[in-house]
Amino acid sequence: MKSKITGLILAGGRGTRMGRVDKGLQPFRNATMVAHVLRRLAPQVDTVAINANRNLPQYQAAAGADIVVMPDQMSGFEGPLAGLQAGLQYCATELLLTAPCDSPFLPADLAERLYAALEDGDADLAVAVTMEADDEEGGAPRRQPHPVFSLLKASLLPQLDAYLATGARRMEGWHKTLRVAEVMFDDAAAFRNINTLEDLKRHEPEQTTSAPAAPASAGMSADPDALPVDEAARLIARRITPVAATETVALCASLDRVLAEDIISPINVPAYDNSAMDGYALRGADLPPDAGSAPVTLKIIGVAYAGRPFTRTTAPGECVRIMTGAAMPPGCDSVLPQELAAAIGESGVTIAHGAIRAGANRRFAGEDLKAGGIALAQGKIMRPADLGLVASLGIAEVTVRRRLRVAFFSTGDELRSLGETLDTGCVYDSNRYTLFGMLARLGCEVVDMGIVRDDPTALEAALRAACRDADAIVTSGGVSEGAADYTRDIMALLGDVAFWKLAMRPGRPLAFGQVRSGDDAAWLFGLPGNPVAVMVSFYMFARPALLRMMGVAEALAAPRTVRARATEAIRKRPGRTEYQRGVVATGADGEARVRLTGAQGSGILSSMTEANCIVVLGHGQAGVAAGEMVDIILFDGLI
Ligand code: AMP
Ligand code: MG
Repeated sequence: MKSKITGLILAGGRGTRMGRVDKGLQPFRNATMVAHVLRRLAPQVDTVAINANRNLPQYQAAAGADIVVMPDQMSGFEGPLAGLQAGLQYCATELLLTAPCDSPFLPADLAERLYAALEDGDADLAVAVTMEADDEEGGAPRRQPHPVFSLLKASLLPQLDAYLATGARRMEGWHKTLRVAEVMFDDAAAFRNINTLEDLKRHEPEQTTSAPAAPASAGMSADPDALPVDEAARLIARRITPVAATETVALCASLDRVLAEDIISPINVPAYDNSAMDGYALRGADLPPDAGSAPVTLKIIGVAYAGRPFTRTTAPGECVRIMTGAAMPPGCDSVLPQELAAAIGESGVTIAHGAIRAGANRRFAGEDLKAGGIALAQGKIMRPADLGLVASLGIAEVTVRRRLRVAFFSTGDELRSLGETLDTGCVYDSNRYTLFGMLARLGCEVVDMGIVRDDPTALEAALRAACRDADAIVTSGGVSEGAADYTRDIMALLGDVAFWKLAMRPGRPLAFGQVRSGDDAAWLFGLPGNPVAVMVSFYMFARPALLRMMGVAEALAAPRTVRARATEAIRKRPGRTEYQRGVVATGADGEARVRLTGAQGSGILSSMTEANCIVVLGHGQAGVAAGEMVDIILFDGLI
């Protein structure tokens, strides 16, 4: 039976309900959706082919080289029958079995059961049917046919061609012209398809997000269709991989770069036991043993300087004047800081009981770093202390990841560049400057592509140029559902881009995906247009993803929060994450306290310049009372 059947995965749709993303390529349970369908279908048939109308190379990559990926013969996304037509043309076996690319749970006995029904009923086509609960409460279950899960004779191609030639496009309509056998499957869940990003999210097993459990008031949540920020961050993180190329640079040039290899210490640091203080190196056994003991006076037999050791072994009753960093003289195990001496004479030092303990103020060889140990792990961003540490090992060059190239541009007909006159209804393009600043801070090579008008040709040209030029593209504006913006259409055309409506404020819309031009590809972050929303979405989504691309270790890529006490009540609706601008300072009691910076509108950039932190109010959280602790993200760290 198996050898008579070719499998066809239908992936040629527009994915309209998923915000025009290419559904089959969406990440799902550590693979793409199409890979899950393939895994379930392949064992049931002789060969599998995929029908896709966009992103054919990505489908090929997801499916493997021996799977044929083919577009419709008809142009213009004419629906599943057009895909079926292409499949039948390709099919070299007697029968063709179809399954859609968004049905990762399809039954393992699909082919077997449809085949049996086709044979028994002498039918042209066998289709799966399940019983579904009626949408209306209390309604009786009804039969639900699944026309895209069908097994049909390859000889039906001429009939299908004729049906399509009439202009008809509906699968159910075509089935009416055939002898159809229906096969009842008990497991309705196996035919479930994933139509929206919400569905995608719901079916992910590791669903526990870090958002606290929704409170009772969650019924008033801001927008039940919006994607929680944690989920979006996770979907992005899954797809991003670090750039592979590395370069070896002089130590100083590695500042702010990402370490590509572990640095193994070739030596012990310090290399020898030495003194932590200026004072007197002595034998601990010579110290006055208990409270009743009289002070002891030790004879000074020499001086040990840093870089000029005293090499003679001290005998009981002797000590050596020693400077910080000087090697411990042989026989000595403790250092008395000079200010703790009871008396210092010409040739002797007097020490009272309890001045120091035996072993005090001695630094051991290798106590900072042991020879052969990992001094710095790859994935670390080199900070000033790291430069010093590497230098302390005698290492002059380090291997770092190559710099990330990031192109950025602003979209919008209303935007004017600096130096231009501000016509009525126009605004100066500020986003390009904030983006420049944020990207430059990350240590990216930036490619400023200016302002791109809301014009399809200009946008397409800009995105194609950016693909050639950069690893990632950051745009602002045009990703909301505004009518005058062509950005979404063009982004969708050039690649596999998801348009999300996020459960956050500020910054609801976000586009993320890969855009391609010929052999070049780049990750695209389509940020919203409002100036504060741009910054917040950059920090929350683009920054962690760019850091991952730069090779930064996972634990260091996510924004770090600390806690502070809110000085005032903060209003907030559950069901979305809010990022409010705050000013944090240390209170009289030494505790961090945070207040908001007044107007919080997503266009009010002065709220950002005034702030020194962002107050993060989690997805499930309702308002905060004055005096409650909140999470904050600091803008500036010390290093
Ligand atoms: P959009 O998402 O394109 O509808 O833009 C939303 C809002 O952000 C509009 O009020 C735009 O004028 C504004 N905006 C978009 N891009 C920029 C920019 N580069 N600089 C300043 N404001 C902008
Ligand atoms: Mg716009």
